[in-house]
Amino acid sequence: MSGPSAAPFAVDAHGWVPAAHRLPSPNFEARPAGAVPSLIVVHNISLPPDTFGGPGITDLFLDRLDCDAHPFYDANLRGVRVSSHFVIRRDGVLEQYVSCDERAWHAGLSNFFGRERCNDFSIGIELEGSDTTAFEAAQYRTLAALVQALVARYPVDGLAGHSDIAPGRKTDPGPHFDWARLQRDAQLADSYFPYRHPRDAQRAAP
Ligand SMILES: [Zn+2]
Repeated sequence: MSGPSAAPFAVDAHGWVPAAHRLPSPNFEARPAGAVPSLIVVHNISLPPDTFGGPGITDLFLDRLDCDAHPFYDANLRGVRVSSHFVIRRDGVLEQYVSCDERAWHAGLSNFFGRERCNDFSIGIELEGSDTTAFEAAQYRTLAALVQALVARYPVDGLAGHSDIAPGRKTDPGPHFDWARLQRDAQLADSYFPYRHPRDAQRAAP
């Protein structure tokens, strides 16, 4: 088997993907009443920056990062409490930290076409990576399969990068992230990508 459909995922009744490595983070809360996931936010993260494969991401999301272990941690991450629903490692392995039914803390101050507090209504997916490095084929495969599972389960109608919803403050997933590849592999219409295919232009098209 090969290709984007080789590793289908499912979401269980409690918002967890059984095929993911489950690493429950304490950094979440209930979504506001009536809020359902309608947006997927794509990020990149590496800890220390541009270093892959270490325990830093997991330790950060589980509130056990040793901030004396690296100058970047000491300067930027002391006392920080964050999480994301998912992390996709360089080899495509999927980790889940927060149920999709809960509100994870990945987007911060953000705005999706006038809707603020994107954490209320989004699912966060972190690709282990950086703004300076291409992502791995295995990561795109896992991402496409995960996005398909989430779109099948939740009323998702948009995907955005962190930089789209927090411009000027965030740059991830960065210039190496290939949105067209994700769209093709996940087999999603242009309407799911309002920052790549502006909805005004779609309406205006003949
Ligand atoms: Zn981000």
